Amino acid sequence: MSDGTDRADGGTAAGGEPSRVLVLNSGSSSVKYQLIDMAAGTADDAGPESGGRRLTAGAVERIGEPGGVPGHAEALEEVARELAGRGLGLDSPELAAVGHRVVHGGTRFTGPVLVTDEVLAGIEALVPLAPLHNPANLAGIRVARRLRPDLPQVAVFDTAFHATIPEAAARYAIDTAVADRYGVRRYGFHGTSHSYVSRATARLLGRDPSEVNMIVLHLGNGASASALRGGVCVDTSMGMTPLEGLVMGTRSGDIDPAVPLHLARVAGMGTEDLDTLLNKRSGLLGLCGDNDMREIGRRMSEGDEAAQLAFDVYVHRLRRYVGAFSAVLGRVDAVVFTAGVGENSAAVRAAATAGLEQLGIELDTVRNAVRASGSRLVSAPGSRVAVAVVPTDEEWEIARETFRLARGTAGGGPGPEVRA
Ligand code: ADP
Repeated sequence: MSDGTDRADGGTAAGGEPSRVLVLNSGSSSVKYQLIDMAAGTADDAGPESGGRRLTAGAVERIGEPGGVPGHAEALEEVARELAGRGLGLDSPELAAVGHRVVHGGTRFTGPVLVTDEVLAGIEALVPLAPLHNPANLAGIRVARRLRPDLPQVAVFDTAFHATIPEAAARYAIDTAVADRYGVRRYGFHGTSHSYVSRATARLLGRDPSEVNMIVLHLGNGASASALRGGVCVDTSMGMTPLEGLVMGTRSGDIDPAVPLHLARVAGMGTEDLDTLLNKRSGLLGLCGDNDMREIGRRMSEGDEAAQLAFDVYVHRLRRYVGAFSAVLGRVDAVVFTAGVGENSAAVRAAATAGLEQLGIELDTVRNAVRASGSRLVSAPGSRVAVAVVPTDEEWEIARETFRLARGTAGGGPGPEVRA
C-alpha cells in the first residue's frame, strides 16, 4: 500500500538525478522496508515534515519459521516482488541507493559507509559483538547487492552516532588488556533515532543543534537514553550490547554484573539460559508478565500490584538516568521523549519528570495529557528546561544518510564519512 501521493517529478531530484532510497532493516526473523523519495528533503536536515516522501512501506516476517519464507534471500525477493507489484520495482531507474540498517559498527564504523567487499568483511568481523543482528543485516546487504549490483548500497550503523562519547564514559572499569582484546566497551545503540530526534528537537526550539544540550529518552520496546552536548553525543545508557541501561519491554537493563555469576553457580544456568533470561524474560515482562505499556496502564487502573511495581521500577530507572545525565551535561536545555512509550505515554512522562523543579524541569500537566502526533513542547511556560515529545523516524534518518553518501559519490564529493 502506498501511503503518499507520488511526487510530480516522478522520483528525480532537480537535474534528473534519481532520488529514491530503499531502506532495508533485515532482522533475524523479518525484513522491514520503506521506499522514500528524497527529492524535496535533501537540502537540509529538516526531516519528512519539510520534504521527502514515504512512497511505500512493508515487511516480510517469520523468516525461517513454519509458514514463512525460508531465508533472507527469499525474503528480499518477496520485497522486490511487492515493490514491483506497486510499480516501484527494484529495477526502477529512479532508485538512487539502498540503505541498510546495521546494528553493530564497533569502533571501526563511526559513520555510514558505502558497502564494499572490505566493509562486508568488517561487519562480519563484528558478529561476535552482535551475534543475532549483524548476520541478518549482512544477509540483507548481500542479497540486495546481488539484485542490483550497479546501485550504491550504504550501511548505516546503530552505534555510529555514539562514537563521539569520550573514553571516560565509554570505558568499563575492567582490565584494559581484556577489554581491548575482546572489544568490551560502551558503543551505544539507537543512534539513528537519537540523531534524528536531537535535530528535530533543536528545530522545534528554533535553535541550532550546536547550541542545545539535551537528554534524549528513546522509549520503545528497546529503550535508551543519551546525553548530547551541542548536538554531539557524550554519554548513552546502552553499552557493549543493547542490554545495558533502562528497563525495557523484555530486557533487564542495568543489573549487578554478579547476578549472572550467582545464577550460574546456584541455579546452574548456562550462557544461553542467562541470555534468554536477561534479554527475553526480564524488563516489564519479567516484572509483571506484560511488556506493553498500554496493558500495564490498564492493569494499574484496576489496582494490579505487579503492574504498578513494573511501572515504578521502569520510572525509577528513567529518573536515575535523567539525574545522571543532568550531572554529565551540567547545563540541560531540553529533555526529549520519543518512540512508542515516550511519544504516547503521558503517565510515564509525568512520573519521570515529577518533582524535578530543582533541575529546572517542570511539566505542564495539561499539555502533557493532550494526545497529539507531532513534535510538541509539554513543559510549563516557566520551565528552565524544555520538555518535548518528538516522534522518531529511524528509516528517514537512514534514507537521509544513504542519499547523502550515494549522491556525494556520484558527484565526486566526499567519500565515506568516517570519524576517528
Ligand atoms: P520498537 O522498539 O519495537 O520500535 P516502538 O517504538 O514502536 O517499539 O514502541 C513500542 C511500545 O510502545 C509498545 O510496546 C508499547 O508499550 C508502547 N506504546 C505504544 N502506544 C502506546 C500508548 N498509547 N500508550 C503507552 N504505550 C504505548
